[in-house]
Parts: sequence; C-alpha cells; structure tokens
Amino acid sequence: TQQFVWPMAQFGQIINMYQRARASAERIFGLMDEPSRIAEDPDADELVVGDGRVEYEDVTFGYDDAETIVEDVSFTVEGGDTLALVGPTGAGKSTVLKLLLRMYDVDDGAISVDGTDIRDVTIPSLREKVGYVSQETFMFYGTVEENIRYGTFDASDEDVVAAAKAAEAHEFIRNLPEGYDTEIGERGVKLSGGQRQRLSIARAILKDPEILVLDEATSDVDTETEMLIQRSLDELTADRTTFAIAHRLSTIRDADQIVVLEDGRIVERGPHDDLLKNDGLYAHLWGVQAGEIDELPQEFIERASR
Ligand code: ADP
Repeated sequence: TQQFVWPMAQFGQIINMYQRARASAERIFGLMDEPSRIAEDPDADELVVGDGRVEYEDVTFGYDDAETIVEDVSFTVEGGDTLALVGPTGAGKSTVLKLLLRMYDVDDGAISVDGTDIRDVTIPSLREKVGYVSQETFMFYGTVEENIRYGTFDASDEDVVAAAKAAEAHEFIRNLPEGYDTEIGERGVKLSGGQRQRLSIARAILKDPEILVLDEATSDVDTETEMLIQRSLDELTADRTTFAIAHRLSTIRDADQIVVLEDGRIVERGPHDDLLKNDGLYAHLWGVQAGEIDELPQEFIERASR
C-alpha cells in the first residue's frame, strides 16, 4: 500500500498547492468574489507594450443593467506618465482601474494600450504587463524571498535583493532572524503594515510591469515608514505609465494629470495647480486631506450622493 498511498498523498499536495496559488492569484487581482464575465477572443494576440500609452474612449460601465457606475470617461495617458484618480468614496475610481485589468469589460467605449483594444489581447498577457499593487497587501505562508518572488520565477537571488533594496525593504529584512529565509505568516514572523507594503512593492518592482495600477493605501504608518514607502513608490512609478488612486498628497501633486471623478463622471481634470485655482471639488478634497478644512462642504456631499 505504501506505493499507493505515497503518490496519492503527493497528488493531494499538488492539488492543494495549485488551489493555494490560484486563490492567491485571484486575491492579488481582487477577483475573489467577482465572478468573471469576460471572454477571451479566440484570435487574441499577446499584448505587446511599446511606449505604454493608455487611452480610455467614452468608457461606460455598470455592474448590472440597473445602474451605470462609470459614464463617458475619456482620457489619454502618455507612456511613462502618471494619472491620479481622485474623488469621493464610491465615485467609481477602483471600477475605472479594474476595467484596465479586464476584471470586467466596458459596456460602451473602449480602452486601448498603444492603440490596441485590450479586448483583442490575451488576458494573461494583459495582466502580466499591467501590474496591480493594491492597498490590501497580500502575503502568503512562506519565506520573505518567496513572497517577493511571487510569480516571477526567472528572477535571480540578486534580482530579489535589488528589488528589496529599491523598495526600502532590504534593511528590515536583513534584521529578521533568518533574513530572506525568514518564514512569515502565522507560524513565522509577523510583519508590520508598513513592512508588508514594502514587500508588496518589492514584488511589483521585481515583476517590472510596463504599466502600473496603484490602489494606494491611506496608511496608518508612522512618518518615517511613510517616507520609506513613498521613496519605494517613486522608484516603482518612475518612467512607467502609472495609474494611482491617490490618497498621498505627494502622488497627487506630482501627477502629470489628475482626473476628478464624481458619481462616475469626470468633473475636473488637469494638473494640481490648475485644479486648485478652479476652487471646485478637487480644491475642496485637497483642503480636507491637507487638513486645511475639516470636512467637505455640504454642497459637495449632496452632489456626490445624488
Ligand atoms: P471608489 O473607488 O471611487 O470608492 P468604486 O469603484 O469602488 O468607487 O465603487 C463605485 C460604485 O460601484 C459604488 O457604488 C460601489 O458600491 C459599486 N461597486 C463596486 N464594486 C462592485 C461590485 N463588485 N458589484 C456591484 N457594485 C459594485
């Protein structure tokens, strides 16, 4: 029976590993509770990214027929530029970015990368080239190194360390009991929120996607960690087409383009200084975040909840 039991046990393990990997991939993309409704074109080609220019043309989308969540959204992000999305909670910021990863397909309009409609390319190639760093940093049971490598199988040890350095994570990793081989998770070392964020940024640096989608955390970390995270994000976003749902004032201020969403529609756009002069929704959101005003004036709250 030995011979019989052993392969079965191994088979079970493989299934288990497969399920874990699959579950974590889905969690990374935030797809867990979102049944896929998209289909791949049988003639789809691999996505080839050149400059990394992304265009939304009159994009309209609703999760169901009853409600339009994103309406007539158009913008162009030139290769290497950063676009920050701001707006009240529920305005549709995350939804706009999920459409770029094809977690859902647009109902109307089109999204293209370097002129190619994203519905004409294979989904794995799209998701390989569009990296997603979410505020829910995902770690799995395993070593620090395995967590950084996640999905990037061909990276050398040197690449892993270089990514950790760029993410301002190398120092704290070196100080862990077994450095890069330290187990993290329930049975291992518990990491702080700021450490987890830097590991997930290191993972994205290692993956080196052509286009980056950053769902920034409103972080509750101390100022020094915040600065370290900011530095590692700067490294990640430099010269790379980046979309950021921005909470960090620095990201917003330096973005090449800011798009202000309200109730699924673009209500303002432009660089920071112009938007401040407009004295509209952006100027007031900024005022709240900068601590200059206590809360959004009632007129904006009412408009947002219409
Ligand atoms: P934001 O990122 O600006 O806070 P979201 O894009 O998360 O806004 O949400 C926009 C609207 O879409 C909200 O009303 C939200 O409840 C709704 N929504 C978000 N995700 C889903 C979903 N998976 N199914 C149905 N409705 C959703």
